[in-house]
Amino acid sequence: MFSAQQYIKATSIQQALELNQKRTSAILGGGCWMRLGKKNYSTLIDLSGLGLDQIEENDDEISLGAMVTLRQMETSQLLNRYFGDFFVQMLRHIVGVQFRNCATVGGSIVSRFGFSDILTGLLALDCDVVLAQKGRISLNEYAQMPYDRDVLTHIIIKKNGRCAAYESVRNTETDLPVLTCAVSILENNIRFVIGARPQRAVIYETSTDPEAMIQKIQEETEFGSNMRASKEYRRMLSGVLCHRALEKAKEGIKCR
Ligand SMILES: Cc1cc2nc3c(=O)[nH]c(=O)nc-3n(C[C@H](O)[C@H](O)[C@H](O)COP(=O)(O)OP(=O)(O)OC[C@H]3O[C@@H](n4cnc5c(N)ncnc54)[C@H](O)[C@@H]3O)c2cc1C
Repeated sequence: MFSAQQYIKATSIQQALELNQKRTSAILGGGCWMRLGKKNYSTLIDLSGLGLDQIEENDDEISLGAMVTLRQMETSQLLNRYFGDFFVQMLRHIVGVQFRNCATVGGSIVSRFGFSDILTGLLALDCDVVLAQKGRISLNEYAQMPYDRDVLTHIIIKKNGRCAAYESVRNTETDLPVLTCAVSILENNIRFVIGARPQRAVIYETSTDPEAMIQKIQEETEFGSNMRASKEYRRMLSGVLCHRALEKAKEGIKCR
């Protein structure tokens, strides 16, 4: 468990950003990952008073505040209306309901875990992140950036009609995934995202031949071995999950 010398409930995003510049400070999301460590922080910065726990929409976009919990996303009528059961499939294996009531989308995206269901899923949609210092950038660009001391305030999902499906394989129901896969379709663009390789998710896109792309994914993606699975098994699974998710994404389009 972590400890802290002082705890500050931020009154503005600017204050949170300033406090977070110190190497020994930390933003507190749900604390679910942080509590596994033993760090002694000088200042813990709580964002819970800043209204960042809302899922909102305008004509073009859906905005997720950084403090929105995984469970809020899973049960959101708004997200389910636009994306069918995509968010449910992406989130339902993550530990359990009590855990998902606590863990936040902000903490999940900032952490950019290789095993992340959330990063895999959101990369398949057209998303930007909003950072207190750097402003708005694409999630794809953010996913490749090194860790820094910025504060993530929002994740923005474009409402452009992209249809998506999510698949994962686990050794047991709530374990970390062996492999994650999200496929999305917008007009003639098909996007494949493969995560938990076990490294961070990678993206492939095609507008011509999805079968050839799935073969390329199997042949060219770098997979690794760990205690959950070998790289050979992951390579084989990638083809299966891409096919399954592609079929589901196409079904979603037919349903519209
Ligand atoms: C036992 C266990 C099993 C898990 N299994 C899965 C799984 O199967 N699939 C999956 O996808 N995920 C899994 N996760 C990860 C989980 O979904 C969350 O991503 C994780 O707990 C982080 O969310 P949090 O809100 O708890 O973040 P915290 O623990 O509060 O924070 C994590 C990091 O992000 C920083 N941070 C938090 N919010 C912000 C912000 N707004 N701006 C800047 N920095 C910020 C914190 O300072 C910290 O460094 C698991 C986690 C645990 C502990």
